[in-house]
Amino acid sequence: KHFPVKRTIGEVLLRIPQRYVKAVDGISFNIFKGETFGLVGESGSGKTTTGRLILRLIEPTDGQILFEGEDITKFSKEKLRKFRKNIQIIFQDPLAALNPYMKVGEAIKHGLEIHNIGNTRLERKKMVYEMLERVNLSPAEQFYNRYPHELSGGQRQRIVIARALILNPKFIVADEAIAMLDVSVRSQLLKLLIDLKKEFNLTFLFITHDLATTKYICNRIGVMYLGKIVEIGNFKDIYENSLHPYTKALISAVPEPDPKKKKEKLIPRGEVPNPINPPPGCRFHPRCPFVMDICKKEEPKLKKVNERLVACHLYK
Ligand code: SF4
Repeated sequence: KHFPVKRTIGEVLLRIPQRYVKAVDGISFNIFKGETFGLVGESGSGKTTTGRLILRLIEPTDGQILFEGEDITKFSKEKLRKFRKNIQIIFQDPLAALNPYMKVGEAIKHGLEIHNIGNTRLERKKMVYEMLERVNLSPAEQFYNRYPHELSGGQRQRIVIARALILNPKFIVADEAIAMLDVSVRSQLLKLLIDLKKEFNLTFLFITHDLATTKYICNRIGVMYLGKIVEIGNFKDIYENSLHPYTKALISAVPEPDPKKKKEKLIPRGEVPNPINPPPGCRFHPRCPFVMDICKKEEPKLKKVNERLVACHLYK
């Protein structure tokens, strides 16, 4: 049934053509077994998209994602279902990650049932109890039958960690995993993640906008800006002597606890450009204090400089 269209003077309808954002554009990096690789950048840099691509929660339009030599973008649905046990994610918001109608013990046990781990209900329940104790939610029986809203933010994040680790994964994507917690709880959770990484022999991708946090947990870091990786290297090298102007700006913004140590502040000009229409050449050029003519025309490629990779025309 068609209704007559009512026209009113002063009403303007704008049709916006379909647009795409290249959230991640031609990035390439390795994460070595047993390390914690930090992916750092402002919001909108593409770091969360990268984490989700690795879990195939988002399908890439191009490229490969190799896990132990196998391209996971080629996995069938069934192979992917079995493979998912190997890679787990810890999201930023534990309340959103947990089913509000499911008791937390059942939520952890659910993963065991999906992946056929444990032979009986009782055995699975025992495994959940052990894992609750391991993430310091003790005594476990006091937590098993509670709902997410009955727990604090830190306790909920421990549940999410327990749910991930009970499947005995090899790789963990921690996406701003401690960003929403109070400062005191944050350091406890960071310590827990470091301990569990050693105990379970894990490899971590640690995604964060907070460069200061990477100091405690990361071996190497990659810095992202507008969908591109601009610098990759050992944490210490980058922190003590960063090369890319954007990395320098991020590091100069980290508060220095020692008041005697003076740090030069490097503040990029203006706002992050619109990712729908990123600037030509180096994407950082409209904000870079060292911009040159070549930067506006030619995209700098990642190249090896002093044992690290950097994408900047300042380094030939
Ligand atoms: Fe700055 Fe040019 Fe380096 Fe880009 S390539 S970061 S604009 S100096």
